[in-house]
Amino acid sequence: MIRIAIDGPGGAGKSSVAKALAKKLGIIYVDTGALYRNIGLYALDLGINTKNENEVSSILGNISLELKFENGKQTILLNGKDRGDEIRTPEASMAASNVSAFPKVREFLLKTQRDTAEKNSVIMDGRDIGTVILPNAEVKIFLTASPEARAKRRYLELTAKGADVTYEKVFSEMVERDRNDSTRAIAPCVPANDATIVDNSDMTEEETVIAILEVINKK
Ligand code: C5P
Repeated sequence: MIRIAIDGPGGAGKSSVAKALAKKLGIIYVDTGALYRNIGLYALDLGINTKNENEVSSILGNISLELKFENGKQTILLNGKDRGDEIRTPEASMAASNVSAFPKVREFLLKTQRDTAEKNSVIMDGRDIGTVILPNAEVKIFLTASPEARAKRRYLELTAKGADVTYEKVFSEMVERDRNDSTRAIAPCVPANDATIVDNSDMTEEETVIAILEVINKK
């Protein structure tokens, strides 16, 4: 069994790199951000204020999240339904960032994440995998890049899907989400003491995969 934690800010390319690594290593890729995004989306469905801790905490009892893996692809069923790309909109991103600051939300998702890593060899990406969820992970990577490089990637990703956004808007939302995620009191997005930091501002996805494989192979 091997557990690989990849943490870092949005837009660093964690998910594409982790997917490629999972394929190479023949293990499961777990996208933990998608769990927070589903809770954010459900809060938006109900029209509640995603910055209000009491309102958000009060809906958790009505949420069932089921993680499934088929042919290496993760699906999440939110109350029995796969919400697909609805969780990827800028609104859902901000809602996810807001709800993820609340201890009850993090507690709610802790068991699902740990159980998955107990049953399978995994590469799990998120913000607090190496620090909180899997403190004993065999490999810990903190993948980061400059805010400009990350916003540019996110912008290209969104426009490729036909989203009507500007680079400036993507950049300012990214900086806001970074601030939320790295300064919150609980499980902030910071490298674990024993994490290897990889800055891929000037690397392609392929080069990033190779750099991380080198770290894995050394372990
Ligand atoms: O990684 P992704 O951008 O999909 O994550 C969406 C949001 O969920 C992040 O902005 C972050 O606030 C939150 N998150 C978190 N802990 C994780 C994964 C994501 O707080 N392990």
